[in-house]
Amino acid sequence: MYLGFDIGGTNIKYGIFENDNLKEFNIVKTVDGRIIETLRFIIKRYKNIEGIGIASAGLVNFNNEIIFSPNIKELRNVNFKESLKDLCQNVKAINDVNAMALCEIKYGYGRKYKNFIVLALGTGVGGAIVINRRLYLGSNGFAGEFGHTKISLKGSRCKCGRRGCLEAFIGRNYILKSFSQNLDLHDIYKNAKKGDKDSINIFKKYSKYLSIALANFVNILDPEAIILSGGVANDIILRFTKRYLKREKIYRDVNIHISKYKNKAGVIGAILYLKEENLIL
Ligand SMILES: [Zn+2]
Repeated sequence: MYLGFDIGGTNIKYGIFENDNLKEFNIVKTVDGRIIETLRFIIKRYKNIEGIGIASAGLVNFNNEIIFSPNIKELRNVNFKESLKDLCQNVKAINDVNAMALCEIKYGYGRKYKNFIVLALGTGVGGAIVINRRLYLGSNGFAGEFGHTKISLKGSRCKCGRRGCLEAFIGRNYILKSFSQNLDLHDIYKNAKKGDKDSINIFKKYSKYLSIALANFVNILDPEAIILSGGVANDIILRFTKRYLKREKIYRDVNIHISKYKNKAGVIGAILYLKEENLIL
């Protein structure tokens, strides 16, 4: 029996994996400052755990240590394996979107495409690079930080410290700043579906920024497909992004899809990272 965690800025998701099946799946709120405590509390509830896979937002190195997570203060220079070693010896940690990509390789669009990128749209903007059905992690484990590529010399200062990052244009809080009403993107989505012009314009703007960034990634990596994931990805963004990307002159067709594994992909991927070595390049 394996335990998988997916730590994000808003929620911690976790699940039990047994005989290649996700048996149990739960969500608790993320309390910054009490994350390790929460993990320990959950782990102690289960017996016979053979291993723990952790997916987390932020820069996670090959030593199972998180160096920095722009939206979670507690997770700076925290070694997950060390912090949990008295409860379980077999612990591995990976960036959350890289974990999602592992789930995609094994169960999702990896069955259809060999080369693709994953972009997780949420509080932040995360990414992952898949080459020949293997996840590319880079020299430190930090590859695929698409959210922190610059799309403008101007723009707000990003939480990473730079100015003009993609995340500083379309990260949840940044894009909401440009909307006069006090609504979350889920409400704006509902209103856009009903035909509300202001709400539709928010997603148009969102998709414009996104397509500029995607054109950069396509020019660098030449993928067959782009998989959009995360809580903010939706059909309206998909539609406008396809339209705007056509205007970016990338001279080739790229398929864009929304992941079918939005919610559970991080947990499943964390366990895949723990168990299966042949998914990493
Ligand atoms: Zn940034």
